[in-house]
Amino acid sequence: MYDIGSRFQATMLGGAIGDALGYPIEFMSQPDIKSNYGSEGLTHYILVPKSGKALISDDTQMSLFTADGLLWSYYLGSYRGLESYAEKGIYPSYLRWYYTQTKELPEGKDDSILKRQSYEKHGSLMEEDRLYDRRAPGTTCLSALSTGKMGSMDEPLNQSKGCGGVMRVAPIGLFLHEDPLQAFYVASEAAAITHGHPTGFLAAGALAMLIAELVNGKSMEDALQLVISHLSQYPEGQETVDALLAAEQLSSSQNEVEGIAVLGEGWIAEEALAMAWYAARKAETFEQGVCLAVNHGGDSDSIGAVCGNLLGARWGMEAIGEKWMEELECRDLILNMADRLYRL
Ligand SMILES: [Mg+2]
Repeated sequence: MYDIGSRFQATMLGGAIGDALGYPIEFMSQPDIKSNYGSEGLTHYILVPKSGKALISDDTQMSLFTADGLLWSYYLGSYRGLESYAEKGIYPSYLRWYYTQTKELPEGKDDSILKRQSYEKHGSLMEEDRLYDRRAPGTTCLSALSTGKMGSMDEPLNQSKGCGGVMRVAPIGLFLHEDPLQAFYVASEAAAITHGHPTGFLAAGALAMLIAELVNGKSMEDALQLVISHLSQYPEGQETVDALLAAEQLSSSQNEVEGIAVLGEGWIAEEALAMAWYAARKAETFEQGVCLAVNHGGDSDSIGAVCGNLLGARWGMEAIGEKWMEELECRDLILNMADRLYRL
């Protein structure tokens, strides 16, 4: 049965699962992964002894703040304007994320940025002590937000094309799924808050549009085609187009699952997106996809997160086995956020 609410949940949870699976091996080479976990690589969570949970990393923390920013801008009533999602909702939410990681206010900001105004009835992420843990937050995100200035596509703060913009925008594809082009635009703006290289933000736009199309029931082929034709309208979109096309081609010609490393290491935006696409495309099950997405020498947690987003949007909750749910840190919070996005 086609259940769009289930796809919302699975997109958010799938991302968190891929993130949590890959987080312990983010900085491990492929030979090291194999010598530690066997020839299949890591295929189960590594649990933290204290809590018995698989920890999410900054990718999922920031995705929650993206979702929170969307809800925030909705409640503020600013959803009528395209520009305001990023400026009125997501940017202030990222400033709050910055505070959770540093306990400091960005330059020129006072503690009014930490307070809710019209959104109290749903509580605040700032009350979630568990989100204050530092899980290898990206330096580009921290340094861009520390300036107290908001980066945008027109006025970039830097020239970074790290994958930190891509790995956090899937909630935008969900929330704006009825208008995939708007999802593309808003996600590009949301990524440009911290990542100023055109590929750093256009690859994020591409992911949100892919999520929107998949949630709406499009096939992977059709979703990719639509995104590529839209990206091609941007002169600076070529790098992302090339990376996605390489992944698509490799997924049909390459039998070896290890082919993922041909596409790069995924520290940069277009590679992370392309590697995640490849893993999602090769996968016959959710588990196969996220395992493929993390077992290589590159940015395991971010590629795992993006791949989990894509597969969740494609298949919904039915595809995610119980084994991945129980031990996932913050599962309740993530599901709750997915449901709130869905209800609005
Ligand atoms: Mg991470």
